[in-house]
Amino acid sequence: MLYKSTRNPDHIVTASQAILQGLASDGGLYVPTEIHPLSLDWNELQDFSYQQMATFILKEFLGDFTETQIRYCVNGAYDDGFDHETIAPLKKADGHYYLELFHGETIAFKDMALSILPYLMTTANDINHNEKDIVILTATSGDTGKAAMAGFADVPGTQIIVFYPHGGVSSIQERQMLTQEGNNTHVFAIQGNFDDAQKQVKDLFNDQAFNEELKEQNKQFSSANSMNIGRLVPQVVYYFFAYAQLVKQGEIEPNDKVDFSVPTGNFGNILAAYYAKQLGLPIGNLICASNDNNVLTEFFETGIYNTNREFILTISPSMDILISSNFERLLYHALGDYTPALNAMMNHLKEKGSYQVTEETLANFSDFLADFATEEETLQEIRDVYQNAQYVIDPHTAVASKVARKLATQREDYPLVIVSTASPYKFPEAVLNALNINTDMMSDDEMLNALKDITHVDFPPAITSLNEKPANERTIIPIEEMKASIRRIIAN
Ligand SMILES: *Cc1c(COP(=O)(O)O)cnc(C)c1O
Repeated sequence: MLYKSTRNPDHIVTASQAILQGLASDGGLYVPTEIHPLSLDWNELQDFSYQQMATFILKEFLGDFTETQIRYCVNGAYDDGFDHETIAPLKKADGHYYLELFHGETIAFKDMALSILPYLMTTANDINHNEKDIVILTATSGDTGKAAMAGFADVPGTQIIVFYPHGGVSSIQERQMLTQEGNNTHVFAIQGNFDDAQKQVKDLFNDQAFNEELKEQNKQFSSANSMNIGRLVPQVVYYFFAYAQLVKQGEIEPNDKVDFSVPTGNFGNILAAYYAKQLGLPIGNLICASNDNNVLTEFFETGIYNTNREFILTISPSMDILISSNFERLLYHALGDYTPALNAMMNHLKEKGSYQVTEETLANFSDFLADFATEEETLQEIRDVYQNAQYVIDPHTAVASKVARKLATQREDYPLVIVSTASPYKFPEAVLNALNINTDMMSDDEMLNALKDITHVDFPPAITSLNEKPANERTIIPIEEMKASIRRIIAN
């Protein structure tokens, strides 16, 4: 499988080159040139371990990696750094299935891809005989930053620099980032929101002079954000794995359709589900669930993508995003392949903050249903699921759970998998408030202990280690200083 830029059909690269570059130099994103349905024998696939499933799927996407290289990456990533032996367990609660993707090192689903990305990147380096050091720039809405630093910490030949919105992440998320060890990890709070951070990172990627400057120091930029296909492709795996678990547990028959509800921010996770469907996974509806930053809900309803609105800080901060960068990939597929119209829309988005597709194009998004959950609905959902099933979910998962419920009358009655993207321990304040516990006088530690009394789930190492490691001082910078901060780091 090869990859081409969404903005230039002649710009074609191999999988390893796409992973090394992150973003295409024309500003576009790399997309697979073609995806063919796999022949799927569920009698065999239902017994696959996560590692076997990962190898099976990654072989499709990583055309210039050998199977031995893929196995090396998979086995390095999905090991006892995860606190559950199946890596991605499926829990039945309240009539649905929750696909728990938070058993990795940083207890959010970003670990599913960021634990393997360093292996993919160093292998891509070998394949291309690349001698340059890789400087990974990362904008984070809270979870990518920690997971990327954990994955790349002390990986030779790499530097990782993370930017998160000051005041825009949960207190546990921030502490996780500030306690990160590793000589090659760097983290900054920026005076702006996630969209500001992501835009500036993208602009720096496309800053030709800055790229030249790096080249002179034998370095190059790459990305740990989901604009890198090395982030997206490993996320396809768990959709197949979830389906295989449903078959194995006798919940469905092979080839039955299943719906997935995905709490969506940058549109990476749900795009991976879309690619899974293209590969032949029997998916009915893909439910795109948003919080109050409901740009995508509006788009699926009207065909208008409009970011000219207030940026709202919510209790599901990892989804506080107005410009979902991966949506460009879906738009590319919906337009049927490359067309200059896409460049025009992306320019309009950049200049005017919006764009619109035709009725005809909008009809091509029929794999998706979309809605959003308000803050109150999200809290209510945490409460309801707990009351009905004694199962505690985090606010992001609750958004997906609530939205699926809201759309119940609009979808066929397929079994429903709710993609559970974070451990409740990452957002104790919101979860306790949802369960009517007043946290005004509580410290983070008290909240965590109170939550433990409710969930009866032991603290994962990500939580116990928070108190064991000293936190670095928070460094707050204006957006205009991101470039200078990067320059200082790479000069060392
Ligand atoms: C990143 C994140 C999301 C959003 O995922 P996207 O791939 O950006 O759409 C949802 N929930 C949590 C907990 C996250 O960390």
